[in-house]
Amino acid sequence: MTPSAPIWADAAAPSYTRWPGANVKADVAVVGGGLTGLSAAYHLLLRRPGARVVVLEAERLGFGASSRNTGMLGPGVGQSVITLVQRRGHAEARALYRATLGAVGDAARLIEREGIDCDLAMTGQLVVARSRASRVRLARQADLLESFEVPVERLEDGALQAALRLGARAGGEPADGPAALRLPVAGTLHPGRLVAGLAERVARRGGILYEGARVRHIGTGRPARLELSGGGDVIADDVVIATAGYSPGLGLFRGRILPVHLQVLVSKPLTPAARAILGWQRREGVLDARRVFSYFRLTRDDRIVFGGGAPRYLWAGRLDDSGRGADNALRRLANELSRTFPADARVEVESGWTGVIGYVADALPAIERLRGHPAVVHVVGWCGHGVALSLASGAWVTHILCEGAVPEDLPWFRDRLPWIPFEPVRWLSFRAAVGTMELMDQLS
Ligand SMILES: Cc1cc2nc3c(=O)[nH]c(=O)nc-3n(C[C@H](O)[C@H](O)[C@H](O)COP(=O)(O)OP(=O)(O)OC[C@H]3O[C@@H](n4cnc5c(N)ncnc54)[C@H](O)[C@@H]3O)c2cc1C
Repeated sequence: MTPSAPIWADAAAPSYTRWPGANVKADVAVVGGGLTGLSAAYHLLLRRPGARVVVLEAERLGFGASSRNTGMLGPGVGQSVITLVQRRGHAEARALYRATLGAVGDAARLIEREGIDCDLAMTGQLVVARSRASRVRLARQADLLESFEVPVERLEDGALQAALRLGARAGGEPADGPAALRLPVAGTLHPGRLVAGLAERVARRGGILYEGARVRHIGTGRPARLELSGGGDVIADDVVIATAGYSPGLGLFRGRILPVHLQVLVSKPLTPAARAILGWQRREGVLDARRVFSYFRLTRDDRIVFGGGAPRYLWAGRLDDSGRGADNALRRLANELSRTFPADARVEVESGWTGVIGYVADALPAIERLRGHPAVVHVVGWCGHGVALSLASGAWVTHILCEGAVPEDLPWFRDRLPWIPFEPVRWLSFRAAVGTMELMDQLS
């Protein structure tokens, strides 16, 4: 299956000014016009009305992951709470998870306060077990979430069946663990409308949004000089880097942020008969509890948007994802979709697309001043879990810029990211990690 444009593109932000190739002065220059960059610009303008804030977007606003995701707003970072506790210890994992839950609330409040029409529905989220091992993992996750004192509900088979009917399971008994968890503080939204709405709020507050503004070099001084492809410079007192998986292309975080490709399918609108078969009255976002997992939600017009399958790192961090790799990934995801829903619901795939995230080896973001660049703050590495975090992060960046310190003692406020040395080590280690997780899912 050949990738096509995301369905959210119908609501893409209106065009903003093309980069004029001139010399521009700014108080703050934000590099990257996705949710992270727009949120930084929005929060800075709230805090410092009248400041000259310039957003520099290489392509068009929302070109990256921000308008290619599945639109699931939920807590957590790019790893399960079990792994998080193993890696960081209970106290840090608790603080981080609770901060992500706070980010969900902050994101929802921002959307509401600004009246952004992006179909936000706080539906809650289901995490479903499709095997015995997944039930065991869900039981452990529920124990940990309860120990973090965050809301979680265990669903037994009957309760899950009443919420959503899925295809046949690969095994497991109630004694192994719950059939699903319900996380109440979560929702779904329309990513394209969110980007468009946030961009409009930034422009309304006096932010200047440039498209076709590709930064190719950032100077080390303060103020910093940013050189743009096609001519012209921006001189800015402060710079925010919000280029996610594209950061290595800017010469930043090579081997520390891996551009990783993900894939998404969208179904044809479900018939009323199919909706009746599936149930899904509360229209929750759903994740499956495997290590290499799928995640899916309904749109307002009853299509299923279905993401997941094996994440892909291309040789040397290549960004261009056209070709057989993407086609095969979408085909494999279509097979997963047909296994996920009952055959009698006849869920039919209409199209699919791919997108790039910034992945860090320890699956945690990095928000801090950039070493050797006193004017620059970076906000990168959401590891596929960035809708809530990117929207909330503008407040944290604003705090760093205005107060000169990070707002809280959390392990994602850091200027050091783990490094994976050059090719072929990066390519091989990523493939080995994903392959091992797939094997563990199959064996358990
Ligand atoms: C397929 C897919 C599904 C996902 N599903 C979910 C989900 O359901 N829930 C969830 O929480 N997260 C999800 N995510 C992750 C989420 O979309 C991202 O974490 C979030 O959008 C990151 O936003 P961002 O602004 O940091 O990055 P991006 O949206 O990628 O924005 C970076 C921007 O920087 C620009 N840029 C790059 N280089 C330069 C340069 N040199 N000069 C100027 N501009 C530049 C790019 O053009 C791009 O627009 C998903 C991601 C993908 C790809």
